[in-house]
Amino acid sequence: MEMKMGKCLKCGVNVEAGSAFCEACGAAIQSIEDSQRENAIRDG
Ligand SMILES: [Zn+2]
Repeated sequence: MEMKMGKCLKCGVNVEAGSAFCEACGAAIQSIEDSQRENAIRDG
């Protein structure tokens, strides 16, 4: 089962899905799909 959680790319804390900003540092939260896409581009 996959959990839909967001992760702050700045400080690394997990945030609730749908959260727009990190509660810890206030950075904008990207969806997991977006981050995976970025990783694919980076790896490519
Ligand atoms: Zn953060």
